[in-house]
Amino acid sequence: TDKPNVRKIQPGDWLGLLGGGQLGRMFCHAAQSMGYRVAVLDPIASCPAGAVADLHIRADYDDEAGLAQLAERCRAVTTEFENVPAASLQKLAERCQVSPAAGAVAIAQDRIAEKGYIASIGVPVAPYAEIRAESDIEAAPASLFPGILKVARLGYDGKGQARVASAAEARAAFASFGGVPCVLEAMLPLEFEVSVVVARGFDGEVMTYPVAENVHRDGILAITTAPSPRASADIARRAAAAALQVAAGLDYHGVLCVEFFVLAGDRLVVNEIAPRPHNSGHYSIDACVTSQFEQQVRVLAGMPLGLSNQMVPAVMLNILGDAWFTQGGQAEPAWSELLQTGTAKLHLYGKTDARPGRKMGHVTCLGLDSEQARRSAAHAAAVLG
Ligand code: ADP
Ligand code: MG
Repeated sequence: TDKPNVRKIQPGDWLGLLGGGQLGRMFCHAAQSMGYRVAVLDPIASCPAGAVADLHIRADYDDEAGLAQLAERCRAVTTEFENVPAASLQKLAERCQVSPAAGAVAIAQDRIAEKGYIASIGVPVAPYAEIRAESDIEAAPASLFPGILKVARLGYDGKGQARVASAAEARAAFASFGGVPCVLEAMLPLEFEVSVVVARGFDGEVMTYPVAENVHRDGILAITTAPSPRASADIARRAAAAALQVAAGLDYHGVLCVEFFVLAGDRLVVNEIAPRPHNSGHYSIDACVTSQFEQQVRVLAGMPLGLSNQMVPAVMLNILGDAWFTQGGQAEPAWSELLQTGTAKLHLYGKTDARPGRKMGHVTCLGLDSEQARRSAAHAAAVLG
């Protein structure tokens, strides 16, 4: 059933990765446990994936020599970072197998293109307007206020966003962002937020993960509970169907995450998509037969997907740098306390510099039932403060 032009890459061979953050580090772990070797391209010497990769190419994402070295070494290349220049993926694709494709990444890395695409396939998004100039703010319907102004490119973890109550506030925020293209979104009354990770192979084989429920603090993901306790079977079915539709419409190859808002009356609205494994899918490392990172490896290598749609209940807590700064002092969190519950699985990303808001690691608390997972997570949360 493989398309003839898709190469199967055998363990022992090299896989390439653009980006050296924690998602890349977990990709390395998954690839290496299957016997692949990994080359990571990232400009930063001490990056989390560089420390575990078989080869770290220290170069910028658009560095010709670095990209050439990556393409020479690797049979296939993927990305852990949606802001890699699409042109770099395009260049690599001339020399090796690339997933996801440049076109899909180009859409996901630009909120204007992303919302336009999602709306075009008939999947609802939050009401929004494209803001390229101040006059677009004047022309925006009053129903978009109160709203959120978001920079179209390069925002993450709530950065590059401003809550705006009026056109005047939107103008001020637009100026403070330097007048770069933005979207203005209506602030929606969220019942809760969910996400679905989907893996899609070169042959179109698909596998979804259980619907996860996400709680954000200060715009940063704090807690993921999976399966979602609040999503009905009907919401879960519709969210998975929408995620598959988003992936199929892009002819997407790789791992993709779709974030949703759940509104009153069980209405589902897509918030955004990520063309890579996602923080809200980290539970899959410990709770599923196949993690989202292993799926990324399998797609890239042209291998069959692993099972992912069943799991043991899990609650994932992000560990931010803030956990190092409790009670005024600066101290390592009490790891042995955290691990007191035998169902807590600790993942640290090897970052030495703890700063507030910085993702340092996560802990996934498992249970044979959701109550046990919840109790384990309550203990871990108390330790992390
Ligand atoms: P990021 O790229 O930083 O993850 P998001 O667009 O996902 O940015 O926004 C981060 C969080 O802010 C969302 O998960 C949600 O909690 C809140 N948020 C974003 N847009 C809206 C909106 N239109 N209405 C209500 N809450 C929102
Ligand atoms: Mg988000």
